[in-house]
Amino acid sequence: MFSIHDEEKIISLLEANGHKKFRYVQIENAIYKNLVTNFDMIDTLPQSIRDLLKENCSYNSLSLHSEKTDPEGQTTKFLFTTHDGKMIEAVIMRHLSGRNTLCVSSQAGCPMACTFCATGKLGLIRNLTFAEIIDQIMWAVHHLAKEDKKLRNIVYMGMGEPLLNYGEVSKSIHIACCQKKLDLSNRRITVSTCGIAPRIIDFARDFPQVSLAISLHAPNDEARKKIMPVENTYPIDVLFSAIDEYVEITNKRIFYEYIMINGVTDRLEYAKELGELLKWRLAHVNFIPYNPGEGTDSNGYLPTSKMMIKKFQDTLDRYGIPSTVRHTMGDDIDAACGQLALKEEGKSLATEVGRTLGKTTNKI
Ligand code: SAH
Repeated sequence: MFSIHDEEKIISLLEANGHKKFRYVQIENAIYKNLVTNFDMIDTLPQSIRDLLKENCSYNSLSLHSEKTDPEGQTTKFLFTTHDGKMIEAVIMRHLSGRNTLCVSSQAGCPMACTFCATGKLGLIRNLTFAEIIDQIMWAVHHLAKEDKKLRNIVYMGMGEPLLNYGEVSKSIHIACCQKKLDLSNRRITVSTCGIAPRIIDFARDFPQVSLAISLHAPNDEARKKIMPVENTYPIDVLFSAIDEYVEITNKRIFYEYIMINGVTDRLEYAKELGELLKWRLAHVNFIPYNPGEGTDSNGYLPTSKMMIKKFQDTLDRYGIPSTVRHTMGDDIDAACGQLALKEEGKSLATEVGRTLGKTTNKI
């Protein structure tokens, strides 16, 4: 069985069974434009082709375990089960401006083990396939269509480190942007990385128009090492030489995410160091107040106060660096940044998943 999103395989299947190639165009239209929900609904196809597809392909690689929308209707969190029983999450964010964004997962779990992140506590479960990434998007597209809404932006900021699953993430971006398929604009897709330096350069060459966000979170090696183990492999100077090459290739502004943890990342001298680091670079800083999540509270972390965040921003202003504070969405349904830890109704599913998984790895 292969996925309905696997164009090459579907075309080979059609050809091997003596069908014309144009049949694929009908399939493509039905899935991505008419949003049909099963093979039988593709009424432009003869029954024999529908049967052939049913026998050989899966229409959706994910099944919905549960979904939850916050009381204001801004955020919907989906919890999905893969065919082999792994669980992943995706979150729709409906902005007041009318734009709708989907936060997708690229891995089940995550190997990066950032100290503040709930997903990091799970370890890596496995990489997702491109079809599993696209199917998160398809669920969201269908869900929004019922509300007469459209998906406009995708951020690869759910579970996992997208640049460690580069091949599948790349395929999913191609499908999302393909005019005949989901037809989203390259510029409205953002991939977020904790800083896998060599892949940042590949990404610049392969996707010069897709946006890049770097989870920087600290302005020097010593401070970063305490919260992000990736710093041991790609220290700040290595990361920034990749970033400078990225900007040279793409001429695009990078979004830097900076988590505000009281007494850990929010020292005022760090604001100055951050200013020095970014002042000559094409940058926009996004401050994310720390979201407490499952398993992260044991560190004793607390979010930085609004007043302190303002001071940080003022310092960056003086360096001429634009910044915004990320409006926390979805924290009441455990769907905010760093809270994707397979939790449902306050109950952790991670242990349940862990049991079926055996050991997880924490290697990069
Ligand atoms: N692995 C990718 C994408 C995943 S997370 C990356 O590191 O960029 C998306 C963002 O949420 C990252 O910037 C991440 O550092 C941040 N984040 C993780 N845990 C958080 C928490 N508890 N509070 C606030 N932001 C968090």
